[in-house]
Amino acid sequence: MKVHQIFTNSPLRNFTYLVEGKQGHFIAIDPWDGELVLNEVHSKGGLLKGVVSTHEHSDHTRGNVVISKKTSCVFYAHPNGLAKIPCANKGVHEGDRIVVDESCYLEVLDTPGHTFAHLCLILWNEGSPIGLFCGDTLFNAGVGNCHNGGDPKVLFETIDKKLGLLGEEIIVYPGHEYLGNNLGFTLKYEPNNEVAKDLLEKYQGIDWTNEPVTTTLGREKEINTFFRLENEEIRKKLSLDKSDTSKEEVFLRLRELRNNW
Ligand SMILES: [Zn+2]
Repeated sequence: MKVHQIFTNSPLRNFTYLVEGKQGHFIAIDPWDGELVLNEVHSKGGLLKGVVSTHEHSDHTRGNVVISKKTSCVFYAHPNGLAKIPCANKGVHEGDRIVVDESCYLEVLDTPGHTFAHLCLILWNEGSPIGLFCGDTLFNAGVGNCHNGGDPKVLFETIDKKLGLLGEEIIVYPGHEYLGNNLGFTLKYEPNNEVAKDLLEKYQGIDWTNEPVTTTLGREKEINTFFRLENEEIRKKLSLDKSDTSKEEVFLRLRELRNNW
């Protein structure tokens, strides 16, 4: 099993992912450029079996039509996205498995908040959870906005009670490259976060096309403000440092501040 992380160089800095199984079977996630995805698969001598759209926004689905014209792929989506996502023909639910090969599959998580048709995928290989494809729910050092069909209270539940409980060794594969910008936000509300400072220093030198940098969920808990809702420095900066302030209140305030940042 191999994960190919493709940086699209698009204005929104989207990532497309290809999961390659042992027999050369591929699953594509959020294809930005359908031709590019097909060329990548062909250049590796493989066969594209399926496409997953994490949610209905067009920057995550715009490659679907080209791929559907040239393959007999299954197009997987959240049931709420079937009518909105081009070519979507198979609704998948929490716990469903999209098989890559005999020892590798993608487990579907229902993750509302950015929209109500958003799913994330846990990549399992040889019985272990390896990666999380998280679309616009979780980014490196940030979370998605709720401007286009979402709800920040629901996003809080997804981040805090679902993604936050997954194994810390799991690699995060987000839908966009927003790391540098998000680290700036982290450091505004937590200026003494040394891990975030170190990563921001390295950020300028990252070649996203050839050597994309990934984090793990464990690392996210160190640098992602939206996972650090009980941190005292952050709560003080927000003037939300009363002991009875809930994590949800801190999350909602941060999400609001991030909208205008
Ligand atoms: Zn997006």
